[in-house]
Amino acid sequence: MNNKYLYIETFGCQMNVHDSEQMAVLLADIGYRLTDDPAKAELILINTCSIREKAEQKAFSELGRLMKLKEGNPDLIIGFAGCLAQHWGAKVYKRVKNVDLVFGTHNIHRLPEMVAAVQEERKKITQIDFYSEIHSLNIFAPPPKGSLSSFVSIMQGCDNYCAYCVVPYLRGREMSREPENIIDEIRKLTQCGVKEVTLLGQNVNSYGKNLEHGCDFVSLITKVNNVEGIERIRFTTSHPKDLSDGLINAFAELPKLCEHIHLPVQSGSNRILKRMNRGYTAEEYVEKVERLRAVCPGISITSDIIVGFPGETSKDYQETIDMMEKIRFDSLFSFKYSERKGTAAQALQGKVPEAEKRQRLKDLQVLQDRHTQEKNTALEGCVQEVLVEGPSRNSAQDVTGRTRSWKIVNFKGSPALIGKKVLVKISRGYLHSLRGEME
Ligand code: SF4
Repeated sequence: MNNKYLYIETFGCQMNVHDSEQMAVLLADIGYRLTDDPAKAELILINTCSIREKAEQKAFSELGRLMKLKEGNPDLIIGFAGCLAQHWGAKVYKRVKNVDLVFGTHNIHRLPEMVAAVQEERKKITQIDFYSEIHSLNIFAPPPKGSLSSFVSIMQGCDNYCAYCVVPYLRGREMSREPENIIDEIRKLTQCGVKEVTLLGQNVNSYGKNLEHGCDFVSLITKVNNVEGIERIRFTTSHPKDLSDGLINAFAELPKLCEHIHLPVQSGSNRILKRMNRGYTAEEYVEKVERLRAVCPGISITSDIIVGFPGETSKDYQETIDMMEKIRFDSLFSFKYSERKGTAAQALQGKVPEAEKRQRLKDLQVLQDRHTQEKNTALEGCVQEVLVEGPSRNSAQDVTGRTRSWKIVNFKGSPALIGKKVLVKISRGYLHSLRGEME
């Protein structure tokens, strides 16, 4: 068996991080050990993201940089994986000649055989087929030692075709994992010390649609809630159109389900939401947020917003600002619209000038900072349950952890608290964290 080094560089979302972990598990079976040093590696994989143009540029520039290592090591195998590999296929070789392996998001399970073929035959391999089942989803990747939290992939792909998004083309149609496999993975994670899981999927609210025996997302979370050793449950990402009453009520009914939801709204303008093909109106979104707050007071609501989508006028933009004022998100990921090839939005008229997009984003972020600061200040004097994750980066006397509502809290405490849930009285709310004292 080989005893060689593997270096993986991962771009993009948590889904990609998860895929990279599974690649490492598969390659360990044929003798590859992970290294942090690409210069030591016999196999380098770049796991790419194509969501934004910037991520694409970064991945190709990193590929170019790592290719230079081939000059001193001609046997080095370099593979290009993930969404960009899916999108570019064999055209990657035109852009970067000496890449050995290009494989897409449904082909991870074939990695050992692909690497062996490159090694033995020194020929280029390209695998970008889609399958009706994603074989790699059930590979168990043990969490890094000492992990308290772990992501658990419950589904792959997406059927929504939002006008700006490449995911359905690059990750394929929506497919859910069998609940038994998910629960089995979560039990194994608890045996490794994990106490908090985040159920992961492009649209977790539609989990189970393709499963024959019918287990929807609420039934799945209820099963996870019953797993001994799991203390906190989170999930991401939720599509507002599929947020059911059952899921809203679960926040009141399931004790381990944490009081936080990431619910991407993308725009506050109905005209733009329609052009984005999001499937809900601004009013419907606000109404769902109100229901969430009614059943679960104190729930933290975070969101995504895209500014400068084609056709977005200053009136549309103002409607987004008005919605932010009305809802007051706890925090927000905000982006300038970035055109992706092959999406429906590419053909839309009314491109917003770059300078205008930049200004809108800047103003929106100033507003969000104000709201985040207000939300965090409002917690001063409250007692919060904190799962202590580790030493604080800022002071050796402090430890750090998260509230159930996903806020970072730093407070004086010994490392013996790591892994425990403690009650902390918040003394100060900052923009990016809270300060407190243990009760
Ligand atoms: S829901 Fe829309 S934005 Fe999210 S992955 Fe699917 S197509 Fe993309």
